[in-house]
Amino acid sequence: MKQIALYGKGGIGKSTTAANLSAALAGEGLDILQIGCDPKHDSTRMLMHGTWIPTVLDLIRERGEEEITVDDVVYQGFRGVRCVEAGGPEPGIGCAGRGIIATFQLLERLNALKGDVIVYDVLGDVVCGGFAMPMREGYAQEIYLVTSGELMSIYAANNIAKAIARLSRRARSRCTLGGVICNAKNIRGERDLVAEFARRINSRLIAYIPRSHEVQVAELHRQTVVEYAPESDQAAVYLELGRAIYGNRETGIPTPLEMDEIETFALEFIQV
Ligand code: ADP
Ligand code: MG
Repeated sequence: MKQIALYGKGGIGKSTTAANLSAALAGEGLDILQIGCDPKHDSTRMLMHGTWIPTVLDLIRERGEEEITVDDVVYQGFRGVRCVEAGGPEPGIGCAGRGIIATFQLLERLNALKGDVIVYDVLGDVVCGGFAMPMREGYAQEIYLVTSGELMSIYAANNIAKAIARLSRRARSRCTLGGVICNAKNIRGERDLVAEFARRINSRLIAYIPRSHEVQVAELHRQTVVEYAPESDQAAVYLELGRAIYGNRETGIPTPLEMDEIETFALEFIQV
């Protein structure tokens, strides 16, 4: 079983990428479990054709943990991808990271953490203990950083690289950096900038995902691009991403950068 996690700034395209990745991998005959670890709880929505599945935290609040079965939390989506949403606290109270901890404890108890690939879709603006859980406790072996060429998303990716570097020194954690995914915002010099960022943190650009109108159209039809437009160029990009990740042998420990170093080299790419 391969366990991977996508981390990145909010709104950067993690869930879109994760859902299309899961759909692509399921198309290769693999058994996939996708776990949304963002209080936004919309990670698996396109796989579920627009349905908001109940979140683990909501169920725990309503019924208590003992009363919950696998069928209450794991839902079959497109191509049989199994979908789970951790959920979040009620706005204004509680700890968002706790949802992830509670979800993992429950899924372990229910023996539901299985399949050929588990895809964790995790928010990366804050890497508090809860959100670091997938990498900290030995769940995700490979982390993929999703970023565009915008500085704020590169900063967020760099912060996650810091967390990976720190956690890699712990015995329990097996996590490594699998690569950087550029989800394009069509910024000048973007691909080269993100590739250079990846190189400098001792990693590589594993995929460049173009900004595509197809994503919006598929979303309005409540589907992944892989389902809605399987013959499109964008679907081919997600298939390629799936193969690159599934066969990835080049993982490593990142060397995060200082903030001013990022700004200095970003200038070279953006000014051209
Ligand atoms: P995150 O999970 O990181 O918060 P989402 O996956 O929800 O981000 O994406 C945010 C928005 O960006 C979505 O509405 C989605 O349609 C759009 N989006 C993501 N990737 C692309 C892309 N490659 N091309 C066009 N739109 C995209
Ligand atoms: Mg998301």
